[in-house]
Amino acid sequence: MNYKNITIAGSGVLGYQIAFQTAFHGFNVTVYDIKDTTLEKAKLKFNTMSEAFKRDLNATQEQLDKTFKNLSYTSDLAEAVKDADLLIEAVPENPKIKVDFYNKLAKVAPEKTVFATNSSTLLPSQFAEATGRPSKFLALHFANTIWIHNTAEIMGHPNTDPSVFKDVVAFAKAIGMLALPLYKEQPGYILNSLLVPLLSAATSLLVNDVAEPEIIDKTWMKATGAPLGPFGILDVVGITTAYNIDKMAAEKTNDPLKIKTVKYLKENFIDQNKLGVSTGEGFYKY
Ligand code: NAD
Repeated sequence: MNYKNITIAGSGVLGYQIAFQTAFHGFNVTVYDIKDTTLEKAKLKFNTMSEAFKRDLNATQEQLDKTFKNLSYTSDLAEAVKDADLLIEAVPENPKIKVDFYNKLAKVAPEKTVFATNSSTLLPSQFAEATGRPSKFLALHFANTIWIHNTAEIMGHPNTDPSVFKDVVAFAKAIGMLALPLYKEQPGYILNSLLVPLLSAATSLLVNDVAEPEIIDKTWMKATGAPLGPFGILDVVGITTAYNIDKMAAEKTNDPLKIKTVKYLKENFIDQNKLGVSTGEGFYKY
């Protein structure tokens, strides 16, 4: 892997974290977003990030000064990718926006540039054609608070070049990630393939009046040694996310238990702004 110049497209929740993490590890990073005003907001968020890096990683002022020097910003896509070895796409989780973005990008990116999507729920094969370079396209999926929860799931589509895949695994390691390669496309990657059914089983047990959240969590923690049970995890992830996933499942399957779960979460948590750790209360108080 001889990547030097990395472009991050989209400076929202995940984009700015990926940009800062990558710059911290010595790469030249160009942050691209559609509006200059959005980029100005990203710059302010980098100041908060640098405080978090000091607090959580004992980053020195010298390291952080270098990080800021490695960052540049533009709202001109051609300028953003003109010498990019790798572009990481973190634009909104909306297929139409992503296809439009790849269509535009394909016209201006140099041939060498590898494209990686950070999409959480969409598969790379869905966008491979729009990129105009399917063999140099794959998914590189980070988790929120990337500097602490440093997982990077790497997932190609059937036509991703294996050497590109290998380079992206090496890149993920080079920016301090735990690289987690997947051999085939899987909706939800590894983590959410495991987590979503666990959380959904837990809420079903509760709504079906089988046991209280504390008892369900204690069972899971004691029996497996996990530090948190499913309801503790739900409070960290945010109950809104669980609500949205259950709502989609209820609409798709019409399963009476799922419908009951959605109603329960809405009345007891969403409507009362008890959304988990972020609001100070969810299944537990913080
Ligand atoms: P976000 O809405 O916070 O940020 C998206 C950014 O993209 C915004 O700054 C927006 O201005 C910009 N944007 C919109 N259209 C654009 C375009 N055409 N070109 C360039 N930029 C454009 O979204 P997010 O939460 O950062 O999510 C981005 C991607 O990362 C999604 O695919 C999402 O699934 C994935 N992801 C999110 C999380 C998370 O916890 N938020 C975790 C892992 C992966």
